[in-house]
Amino acid sequence: FYGNTSREVFLTKEWIDPRKDKSLYQNITRVNAVIVVLVRNNELYQIRSSMRQFEDRWNKKFNYPYVFLNDEEFTEEFKTFTSSLTKAKTQYGVIPKQMWSYPQWIDQEEAARKRREMESKGIIYGGSESYRHMCRFNSGFFFLHPLLLPFDYYWRLEPSVDFMCDLDYDPFLFMQKNKLLYGFTISLLEFEATIPTLWKTVKKFVKEHPQYVSKDNIMDFISDDGGKTYNLCHFWSNFEIADLNFWRSSPYREFFNYLDKSGGFFYERWGDAPVHSIAVALFTQKSRVHFFNDIAYRHAPYAHCPEEREYHDTGRCHCNPGNNFESSYSQSNSSLCFANEIILDTKLPDRVG
Ligand code: GDP
Ligand code: MN
Repeated sequence: FYGNTSREVFLTKEWIDPRKDKSLYQNITRVNAVIVVLVRNNELYQIRSSMRQFEDRWNKKFNYPYVFLNDEEFTEEFKTFTSSLTKAKTQYGVIPKQMWSYPQWIDQEEAARKRREMESKGIIYGGSESYRHMCRFNSGFFFLHPLLLPFDYYWRLEPSVDFMCDLDYDPFLFMQKNKLLYGFTISLLEFEATIPTLWKTVKKFVKEHPQYVSKDNIMDFISDDGGKTYNLCHFWSNFEIADLNFWRSSPYREFFNYLDKSGGFFYERWGDAPVHSIAVALFTQKSRVHFFNDIAYRHAPYAHCPEEREYHDTGRCHCNPGNNFESSYSQSNSSLCFANEIILDTKLPDRVG
């Protein structure tokens, strides 16, 4: 079921080039899209920082609406101090309990024992209960939140991230015109200790539902041996521009439910990044995934900064292309998740410096 295993497949597709399609630069053809922000009240100033840059670099031109989500009520202060940063509509929602709690098949004492065990091993967020609810919500529920149901596309925005280039066109319209399902900026390796049984569970699901695996999939991104093992590569999901209806489709819903039943969100610490990435890699086609090279983005400790000269000599960007994650990563000995080769954006870099 694993399909094509040739690397060249990543380099062949042609896009409606944003540099050539003028309609992408006007905000009269807005798409049914939303900025999604899952955030806590005490992250007000971190999210204000992200929003300020997000608005200045892009959204002040398009005014896409925001939906803020929280597992508890947002304070009046939070609402005032975020809505004041944008002309766009802002909505604030509480997450329904069943999307942020234990399903009845989870043994909560076992889950607590596993958290202590992972904490003592120093696994990142290994001891955190809320982090697990967050990852499960982002994996299986955000796209079903009542405030998001009216929308087709979203851009996920987190606190304390930076945008280092102007983006003059509408990436949602770009997604729609190219029939894209998923866009990313950074791909990297997951910590294996957070997902010891994830791949085994994925393989069982796929065996039961072989019809869900796309012919033209990107298994090569997530496995180096045709699907026997997971190579830990994933799209970094703190940034996502994607199609909500992909997550709402029955293959993904059934996939999530299957993973959820296995308990790995609680007994291990499965992140929404590997869960999303594996689903995208298996259930979509490579031609429907896009690397947004032109969106310069930083979420500590990594950043993506476009390396082509045109982004810098024009004054569009302020990041250092020498600090670009993909390049520093490939120059070191650690293995590179080559998802950025999915760039099909034809032009090869005229590198700076
Ligand atoms: P990291 O990026 O993996 O280090 O994790 P973050 O702490 O940034 O969490 C990911 C996203 O979920 C961020 O947008 C956080 O604001 C949000 N988040 C994490 N935990 C909670 C929580 O308990 N409640 C709410 N409302 N948001 C959370
Ligand atoms: Mn974060």
